[in-house]
Amino acid sequence: MDEDNIPFGKVFADHMFEMNYVDGKWSDMEIKPYGPMELSPAISALHYGQSIFEGLKAYRNLEKETMVFRPYANATRMNASAVRMCMPEIPKELFVEAVFELLKVDSQWIPNKAGTSLYIRPFMFATDNYLGVKPSETYKFLIFTCPVGSYYTEPVKVKIETMYSRACEGGVGRAKAAGNYAASLYPARKAKEEGYHQLIWTDAKEHKYIEESGTMNMMFLVDDTLYTPTTSGTILPGITRDSVLKIAQSWGYEINESSIHVEELTRLLKAGKVKEAFGTGTAATIARIKSIGYDGVDYNLPSFAEDDFSIRILNFLEDLKRGKEEDLWSWVYKVN
Ligand SMILES: *Cc1c(COP(=O)(O)O)cnc(C)c1O
Repeated sequence: MDEDNIPFGKVFADHMFEMNYVDGKWSDMEIKPYGPMELSPAISALHYGQSIFEGLKAYRNLEKETMVFRPYANATRMNASAVRMCMPEIPKELFVEAVFELLKVDSQWIPNKAGTSLYIRPFMFATDNYLGVKPSETYKFLIFTCPVGSYYTEPVKVKIETMYSRACEGGVGRAKAAGNYAASLYPARKAKEEGYHQLIWTDAKEHKYIEESGTMNMMFLVDDTLYTPTTSGTILPGITRDSVLKIAQSWGYEINESSIHVEELTRLLKAGKVKEAFGTGTAATIARIKSIGYDGVDYNLPSFAEDDFSIRILNFLEDLKRGKEEDLWSWVYKVN
């Protein structure tokens, strides 16, 4: 593995964890070689979409020990997604133990270089062989891992989407449900054709309020206040988002969680008041935004300086995850 050039999500470690939900309980826990699985063409996940996932990362500290960032938060969110999609919950201890046991087996796959990590992908899908729209009675839960480098290597150009919607009130935007991402592909492709890397979604009703980006929550630094949309039912409650807000607060920044009106944002952008805009998510950690397109106009953001908030927070998070910063929040777990 060339640690300088790890393609995101294309290289898989040697093993995977697997268990089955049958007769109302989780059983057959097993760690086995990563590889293809045999499944019936009739499994309901493929037809009616009961499929959810999570994403978290493992790192190496200076002593080469394995560190995992906030795994219980992922276990909690997986269960919240499961409830919304009529799928069975997983005892949190079991979820975390499965992650840890898999990491013990494949710890040599955790890369060392700064900015790299081992991405962990837990997921669950419905396995009843039955054509009919009803909750499945059987499920599979798996975890596999991928060594990864950084997600975006450059600052991104985003477009505020005002035609298509990601999530609506009462829908499943809060859940990390597979179908949400399928629905986002077409609008994202259109944005790419127009020269943007990513979309910023707006609310489905009026397309007037900022929601989030593809797999990232959005933040805007205006003076010393960090603005981010409230995670109402249409926004995925990101763990990176929560971590950044807590760290920023401890650094003395003002936090403003509210609804962000697009017109207000573009007014601030035009006036040069938005110092930084960035997305937060496990895959990218922090993705700096260089320009925001809205209604045919691209608003450029200031270029970077070493002491920018988003760069300091990215470095702090990297150090925290590797045990180089004191873990005031008990977020980092060591796999023994
Ligand atoms: C996963 C995800 C995020 C980021 O969540 P993290 O817990 O920070 O990784 C944000 N938005 C969407 C839509 C996501 O799927």
